[in-house]
Amino acid sequence: MKAGVLALQGDVREHAAVLAELGASPVEVRTPEDLDRVDVLVIPGGESTTIGKLARSANLVGPVVERARAGMPILGTCAGMIVLAARVEGGEPLFGVLDATVRRNAYGRQVDSFEADVEVEGIDHPVRAVFIRAPIVEQVGPGVRVLATHEGHPVVLEQGNLVAAAFHPELVGETRLHEYVLGKG
Ligand code: GLN
Repeated sequence: MKAGVLALQGDVREHAAVLAELGASPVEVRTPEDLDRVDVLVIPGGESTTIGKLARSANLVGPVVERARAGMPILGTCAGMIVLAARVEGGEPLFGVLDATVRRNAYGRQVDSFEADVEVEGIDHPVRAVFIRAPIVEQVGPGVRVLATHEGHPVVLEQGNLVAAAFHPELVGETRLHEYVLGKG
């Protein structure tokens, strides 16, 4: 299976390594033509405002939205969650396909980044989660399932073919969320 990683900014190589470990062929996606060649897409963390600028100038916004609506499995992590969300506090929506409201950089300065094990529905063992200037999910629409929470906040969301995590699984070699999304392909 050809697994794309949106390669505009952020931790692209780590995601590609996880996908390769799971037996998929990682493809860096920078253009609409690259996107056409992949069966699933991972949107890495990074800086959502930068991802937005680069995605617009690469003419990728419409094509990503189209594929998302057509059912392509997508995993968005951290900034990847933000760019999928329909409503963004402290920012602007980009793809806007996930019926959720997220607030950027919502954890206080002292807890800017932290690690935790989170129980994810549908995945057997706790998933190791690295939160780095993570968004907080404020609200989700009726078609969105909350697969995991951390201290009362939803941290993994699923809406059909879309999965979004507020944290980085790839930075600690955590593979099970990627595996879950590849399983939808
Ligand atoms: N703070 C970043 C943003 O708002 C997200 C951080 C991350 O992806 N680790 O886009």
